[in-house]
Amino acid sequence: MINETDFCEFCDGITEPRLVEYTFKRDGRKFTFKDVKAQVCRKCGEIYIDGEAMRKIEAQIKEEVFASV
Ligand SMILES: [Zn+2]
Repeated sequence: MINETDFCEFCDGITEPRLVEYTFKRDGRKFTFKDVKAQVCRKCGEIYIDGEAMRKIEAQIKEEVFASV
């Protein structure tokens, strides 16, 4: 279980839940995901993608990579 309030690994700032745009590069291709659940540091802006959201992103990338073969 992830706490709603967490601290940034880099600057110890407080992170808050937000929906972000996340770009993932793989095999020279670029995948952009919108409205990804994440924790964002209020101080330095570091983005921590939610574990479940990350699994969905990886599953979708796999699908697209396989579809293009
Ligand atoms: Zn930070």
